[in-house]
Amino acid sequence: MKSVVLNAINDLSAEEVTRPTVTTGNSLVKILACGICGTDRHIYKGEYPSTKPVILGHEFGGVIEEVGPGSKFKVGDLVSVDPNIICGECIDCKADRNAFCPSLTALGVNINGGLAEFVLTPDTQIYPVRPDLNPLHLAFIEPLACSIRGMDLGALKGGEKVAVLGGGVIGLLVVQLAKLAGASEIVLVTRQKFRREVALQIGATRVIDPKAESVTDVLSGIDVTFECAGAVETFNQAQRITRRGGSIIILGLTAAGTKVEINPFDLVVNEHRIQGSYLNPLTQSRAAELVGSGKLNLDIMISKVVDLDGVKAILDAEPAEGDIKYIVTLN
Ligand code: NAP
Repeated sequence: MKSVVLNAINDLSAEEVTRPTVTTGNSLVKILACGICGTDRHIYKGEYPSTKPVILGHEFGGVIEEVGPGSKFKVGDLVSVDPNIICGECIDCKADRNAFCPSLTALGVNINGGLAEFVLTPDTQIYPVRPDLNPLHLAFIEPLACSIRGMDLGALKGGEKVAVLGGGVIGLLVVQLAKLAGASEIVLVTRQKFRREVALQIGATRVIDPKAESVTDVLSGIDVTFECAGAVETFNQAQRITRRGGSIIILGLTAAGTKVEINPFDLVVNEHRIQGSYLNPLTQSRAAELVGSGKLNLDIMISKVVDLDGVKAILDAEPAEGDIKYIVTLN
């Protein structure tokens, strides 16, 4: 079968590999769509740890092609896949802290993932979706699950002033989730004009170009700030614009080892809660339901659809101005 293999840092190719064989407790999923995300770029450049060689792709779904003995799934089911595999037995798993499971492995990071014609998928990771779902929307379920985790930690109750720093897919999903959660104001800060225009169409009440305006001069009193850029600058801005007693939820990944400044005096007297949000513990099924509900505008974020041969060129280049989401489709 054809697949996209990361052989070493900055060494990626579309290759023929052996199609996996189904075993008990696993299903073979025929991939219909797989998203390419910021984390894939970090993995490709060696800024996020992964096994090598490995087939990339952790935002995917497709159709069940073959099932193992005793499977609850049927051939032909349309499914999304949670790539993050936990042991389910350790103290962290039992306390619903799945992302901290010492045995955590991920399809597309440590185990062969969704940039391939087929993926051998543990049945525990499979979430059926409505059969008439647009297959392209399968690629949004995992990033949405991560965004829902951030929303859970932000604990919006309705009526809050929200800022979202960074207008990639994660930021634009958080904008839509904040709208569904009843935020009274949703400010998106991002540099690209097209993304700001998209944000206004999907729920932002105000957008800011951080190149044209000083974010910390024009924004203050934010109840919950979602940092979705993974930049030192936005981390610092979040501390300045969030009201005393407010929350700062960090979704963006900086390169490992990046340092930021924290002023402990300000942290104490402002009682800021600075909270990391990692992966998608227990949120994949809600993400699958929400995508199926049709309440999110996902099509507006799709910039380009390519085949497996097109992945390397996408990861070799920086995302083109105005582009938001790249999706790989397979027939
Ligand atoms: P993305 O497309 O790279 O979006 C981030 C965007 O932030 C950039 O494209 C950029 O858009 C904007 N940005 C960068 N610097 C900025 C600045 N100084 N001020 C304002 N905006 C700035 O990536 P994504 O897929 O949306 O993911 C967002 C981040 O979350 C990434 O770091 C990704 O690795 C991480 N992530 C984390 C999790 C998790 O579980 N925590 C899950 C998935 C992804 P403009 O050019 O428009 O400014």
